[in-house]
Amino acid sequence: MTLLDGKHIASLIRAELKQQVDQLLADGHRAPKLAVVIVGHNPASETYVNNKIKACAEVGIQAEKVALEADITEADLLQEVQRLNQDPSVDGFIVQLPLPEHINETTILSAIDYRKDVDGLTPENVGRTVQGLPSLVSATPKGIRELLARYNIPTAGRHVVVIGRSNIVGKPVAMLLMQKPYLSLPGMSAASLGDATVTICHSKTQDLAAICRTADIIIVAAGSPKLLTADMVKPGATIIDVGINRVMDGYRLVGDVDFDAVAPKAAYITPVPGGVGPMTIVSLLQNTLQAYQNHKS
Ligand code: NAD
Repeated sequence: MTLLDGKHIASLIRAELKQQVDQLLADGHRAPKLAVVIVGHNPASETYVNNKIKACAEVGIQAEKVALEADITEADLLQEVQRLNQDPSVDGFIVQLPLPEHINETTILSAIDYRKDVDGLTPENVGRTVQGLPSLVSATPKGIRELLARYNIPTAGRHVVVIGRSNIVGKPVAMLLMQKPYLSLPGMSAASLGDATVTICHSKTQDLAAICRTADIIIVAAGSPKLLTADMVKPGATIIDVGINRVMDGYRLVGDVDFDAVAPKAAYITPVPGGVGPMTIVSLLQNTLQAYQNHKS
């Protein structure tokens, strides 16, 4: 079994990004800039946002935290989104999810200028990605694809089972891995980019275990600890655990995979923490640099 070390791969990518940003500065250009909007004081969101800002600093991307109170109205938040859309010093921005219940996430995400949408969640970017057009690809799916590519795990012709159908993970990762490899991305072998046969499972799927046993690669994004057990895994499969669950004691994070039982059967497996999480953050940095370059040209 090989551990898919997202923490290590993300640090390599950050070093590559730092070189690119240093070169921009040496050539007399300004640094790229990311803005991160956070609404309210959800402790998990605060941690994610702080990690994103710290990662920006490491590679030389400027970061601005826009902290708004939990009782902000949808109209005022939309106004903030418009301000960031129009601010020429901001290359990309994200609105940290989840938002308070009185705010419609779709309304807010749809208002983001797709050229600054570095989380890749606007309908425009999702649609462009589906059609194989240049786009900012949703951060977690992009990070998963890159992790597979950096470990030379091919997806072409292989059966990928995705558990979860959310707009931020399940649907876009399924679409990305089944695509024809239109794009050639630095550091990726073409074989790793797509062409998979993908099955998407969700809470109403019948006999999930039987479907999983036919998978070469399983991507679990359900938010349910120990959902994937050893009896659901074919020997030699690759397991990508997207889940982040805070367990009873409140401090420990676990994924959706029964890691200790599944790992001995798997050829490759991501740990939680240290697997998909760091890859998501580094994808955000890559997207910010891409948005900056698009903006500049
Ligand atoms: P979500 O709650 O929007 O969707 C969960 C999906 O899982 C749903 O489609 C549901 O049908 C499916 N599901 C739930 N229980 C199931 C079951 N028993 N069998 C089959 N399907 C089941 O979740 P999301 O936003 O996609 O996030 C999923 C998990 O991934 C969460 O734990 C979240 O914290 C984590 N996450 C991690 C990262 C990262 O960077 N590592 C990024 C995004 C989300």
